[in-house]
Amino acid sequence: MAYLTLKNINKIYPNGYHAVHNFNLEIEKGEFVVFVGPSGCGKSTTLRMIAGLEDISGGEFLIDGKRANELGPREREVAMVFQSYALYPQMTVYDNIAFGLTLQGVDEDVIEKRVQNTARILGLTEYLDRLPRALSGGQRQRVAIGRAIIRKVGIFLMDEPLSNLDAKQRVTMRYEIAQIHRETGATTIYVTHDQTEAMTLADRIVVMKDGYVQQIGTPYELYYKPANVFVAGFIGEPPMNFVRGTVQNGCLAFGDNRLDLKRKYAGIDRYEGKEIVLGFRPEAIVLGEAPEGYPITCRVELTEMLGDNTNVYVTAGDTQAILKVDSHDTPETDVDITFSIPLESVYLFDAGTENVIE
Ligand code: ADP
Repeated sequence: MAYLTLKNINKIYPNGYHAVHNFNLEIEKGEFVVFVGPSGCGKSTTLRMIAGLEDISGGEFLIDGKRANELGPREREVAMVFQSYALYPQMTVYDNIAFGLTLQGVDEDVIEKRVQNTARILGLTEYLDRLPRALSGGQRQRVAIGRAIIRKVGIFLMDEPLSNLDAKQRVTMRYEIAQIHRETGATTIYVTHDQTEAMTLADRIVVMKDGYVQQIGTPYELYYKPANVFVAGFIGEPPMNFVRGTVQNGCLAFGDNRLDLKRKYAGIDRYEGKEIVLGFRPEAIVLGEAPEGYPITCRVELTEMLGDNTNVYVTAGDTQAILKVDSHDTPETDVDITFSIPLESVYLFDAGTENVIE
């Protein structure tokens, strides 16, 4: 296990593209950190700089407190799992898992013991004699993970390891990756564009956009205390609803609704005449009127029954929103309803900076 320090890390590609800006992070021993953000935000670039596969253009990267910028991938003692499994098709599962150790000239009986142990952790014991083509996608990815964890390195890097799997396999493998982390205790960095994977796996999440870190925090902190509009909209499914408007006499008006913002934020005066963004999560609302909340009237346009809950698509003036309600309370379409946003579940953002107003 190792702890990692990223100090002001920058990446400028040879063509001049500045892909990562001033990335700062301290990763504890054994921690599971997820880099998440839309495609092209710089997640893989950062991971590849940590792996030693990409030069660091600026800043300092330390492993266990020692500068590692100049170390090659092998010297960093990292294991990496990629999106494509890259197994050797002509080798059995056993040989694929054993490959790294065989190359290092480790004793046969030591290899045997480690392969058996790795296979047990990954539930691959009965497949050791098979060739990769006789495995499902999920099993192949487990072999790729086995090949990485058998080396017992202190740092485990994963780049979108589940993206070639179907939805069901992804859920199973997600659980297994969490179990493997619990068993091996390796310091892990995991890259994904999928916020659900990030939320379910991470001790801490780093949200990135356009090469900049937007926020670093536990899943709980990101969900309940998003720093800005981007994080608020990225974490959570369905995403947070946003109402944009100008503050007039301390109020925000949309459709037939007029929300007295002073009830939420006493300092709203300084936003008088300015544009703000109000956010609320689909699952945070209550149907009907709640005393400590903003009552909203809106029109039901569409409902999606998902089992225990229903997504309700509503409009109020030009504003659209999604509400998540108990499926027993699914409203009719094309009728007006009232729901309330509890004050504690209301977020206000500065429309200029997009940062949360506190
Ligand atoms: P992510 O993993 O978040 O999808 P990447 O780290 O792969 O994003 O890429 C970040 C940005 O850097 C993207 O705009 C990408 O096009 C750019 N990029 C990646 N590799 C190179 C390269 N070798 N040369 C120039 N630009 C690159």
